[in-house]
Amino acid sequence: MDGEPLENGAFVVNQNHFVDAGPASQLSEKYPGEFVDLGECIVLPGLINAHCHLDYSSFRGSILPSRNFPQWISRINALKRSLSDDDYLKAMDLGFAELRRSGVTSVFDIVATPQILPRLAPPRIRTWFFLELIDIRPRPWIDESAFGSWLFFEPNHWLGGFGLSPHAPYTASAELYSQALAAAHNFKLPFTTHLSESASEYEMFADGKGDLFDFLSKMGRPMSDCGRFSPFRRLALSGLLPKDALLVHMNELDEADLNLLDQDEWRSLSIVHCPKSSRFLHHRPFPMQALRERGFNICLGTDSLASNDSLNLFSEMRMAARNHGFVSAKELLEMVTVKPAHAIGLEQSLGKIRPGYLADAISIPFRGGYRSIYEEIIDYRNDVLWMMVDGKAGA
Ligand SMILES: [Zn+2]
Repeated sequence: MDGEPLENGAFVVNQNHFVDAGPASQLSEKYPGEFVDLGECIVLPGLINAHCHLDYSSFRGSILPSRNFPQWISRINALKRSLSDDDYLKAMDLGFAELRRSGVTSVFDIVATPQILPRLAPPRIRTWFFLELIDIRPRPWIDESAFGSWLFFEPNHWLGGFGLSPHAPYTASAELYSQALAAAHNFKLPFTTHLSESASEYEMFADGKGDLFDFLSKMGRPMSDCGRFSPFRRLALSGLLPKDALLVHMNELDEADLNLLDQDEWRSLSIVHCPKSSRFLHHRPFPMQALRERGFNICLGTDSLASNDSLNLFSEMRMAARNHGFVSAKELLEMVTVKPAHAIGLEQSLGKIRPGYLADAISIPFRGGYRSIYEEIIDYRNDVLWMMVDGKAGA
């Protein structure tokens, strides 16, 4: 992702950084140390999954694809109530293992179960944990949840970091958004939120009616913020979004939203599209072209196994390629490498095989016969051959 692909290439790693990259013939003369021959393969930067919920990794196949958004929420809430902390820990392990197999070396993960974090072994890939914030119904804050949540504000010893994630404008109040915004600012934490995901959410905010409106008003949510603006404008016009937030989904945008997004003050937003999750929930097609031509930093994520059958970014790239034929394979690969690195503020150190960058890389077999190396990469359908995270190679 740093210039054109290189045939018979090599890179040199010192501790956790790349220090050189170029033709193998030149580097082997320049660096007389130990060389590892990775064989006939394609080496590329480790992939970055920009949106995931690893604590739901045991939900694969537990919820049928649905057009009814409130029904899907009720089902996931019922499943969540049936799990113990040990179940969640197992789910995290399964999720991390699946990410590694499919070449993910960094993940932005939403955490609804902070109480398990003190018991979690340090992840073997770079992980940004985002604390999920919801106040539609007061959560019983047991000591373990409070303790786990404190970790988000402490210097951490894991690869990666911490962030904050008010869940969505229909489950988190304006006050909670504004507190999260202030905390993100004070502690310099990244900020992500689900936004404008479904037609139900759009209808609730814009028109003050619909199935999600009925479902949430029955739960006792005050609905006075509905019936006026789209979900995006509901937050943006009230000063409840940081200008460099990662906005997840953004499927439902109207003309007025796009006009607002045309303004320079929103230029630094990153937008995360989850192609397979959107299909699972029958959402409106993601406005790829409208957001792309406005120059937004668009990233791809898998979302959770409650709305997907895998945590595999190769299949997300293929789904995006099918839905948006005008986006090249190279650009899709940028959406899982350099663009999410930019979204987290690490465009100078993550997402490329380039001297000075963090040494995260993967390899897949080289087969040939494709129009470009990028098309060959996104068509890859197996586990990766080899992986390096932070300069350490492993299976
Ligand atoms: Zn999500």
